[in-house]
Amino acid sequence: MDKMDFTTCSREDLIERIKALEMLNHQLLKEKEEDTRLEYAWTGNLGHWYWNIKTNEVEFNPLKVTTLGYGLDEIPKNVSYQYFTDKLHPEDYAKTMKSMMDHLYGKSEVYETEYRIQTKNGKYKWYYDRGKITQFDDKGKPLFLAGIVFDITEKKEIEKELEKKNEILLELSSTDGLTKIYNHRTLMICLQAAIAESNRTKNPLSIAIFDIDEFKKVNDTKGHIYGDEVLVEIARRIKMNIRETDIAGRYGGEEFMVIFSGADIKVASTIAERIRQSVSNHPFVEETIITISGGVKQYKGETMTELLKKADENLYKAKNNGKNQIVMKEPLHK
Ligand code: GH3
Ligand code: MG
Ligand code: MG
Repeated sequence: MDKMDFTTCSREDLIERIKALEMLNHQLLKEKEEDTRLEYAWTGNLGHWYWNIKTNEVEFNPLKVTTLGYGLDEIPKNVSYQYFTDKLHPEDYAKTMKSMMDHLYGKSEVYETEYRIQTKNGKYKWYYDRGKITQFDDKGKPLFLAGIVFDITEKKEIEKELEKKNEILLELSSTDGLTKIYNHRTLMICLQAAIAESNRTKNPLSIAIFDIDEFKKVNDTKGHIYGDEVLVEIARRIKMNIRETDIAGRYGGEEFMVIFSGADIKVASTIAERIRQSVSNHPFVEETIITISGGVKQYKGETMTELLKKADENLYKAKNNGKNQIVMKEPLHK
């Protein structure tokens, strides 16, 4: 069909013509929405939208606005792009704009983003939005975009629940149930990572292994429950004396380990000594004095197993030298 020549039309004719086109447009949009509803019958489909960039007018399925809590009569006659972007969650604004700009400037194949949009009552809903330029002018400038939007609020809520549950599971599986510090498995994973990091950065790395002195006697005389309480208190004292970046865990039954990232043997030994004193100075229940021994070793490029073995040898030396002391190579403190 040839294009009509509007240059000879009167103003009234043109207005008539525009009205007719608007009616047709309205009808086509309605049919299109019904089609999409059939095609994508899953929940959350809010339907298509069309953005005329030049006139900055957006045509859309009213669901896109009514699900935000507005009545049909509250939708302005001419809705601009900003009508929607003004309602974006502040945290999602920049990324949504970037996605649109990237597409308008030809940096991406599609405009695609997820954002939160504010409902009339102030709450937010999650939308998944995807669109594409469908018409360009003679110079290749974008004129018209068509897209489709989905309400993904429910999906996002389920995802959030899952994330929370995963966090809890991760914590349960990485920590020791009694002392709530890391378990053996996590310690080994962290040590492997710390070794790799030290190799990369050349920053020093040291470890300390602690073992409670005469713990069997404590259990035998005071009972296993009392012994458990001692383990919890010692874990607390270790945590108290190290930095956020250090990693503390339960290495074995009554053995603990600290990974001191960025610390050389001197720094690590000083902190290990501080931990030893913090334990020996603490009056446990019934004024019992509990002591620990420790072996410290700085990483020097050996394998993880070697490193652990050498720290353990120092711990063994501390025990042989009379316990309640820290050994780094030669006994440092007594
Ligand atoms: P040493 O000074 O040589 O370390 O003597 P020790 O008695 O501590 O010797 P050893 O390391 O052989 O004994 C460890 C004891 O720790 C044995 C075990 O009953 C106790 N133990 C290990 N895990 C737990 C635990 O989870 N709770 C309690 N209450 N005791 C534990
Ligand atoms: Mg032991
Ligand atoms: Mg022991």
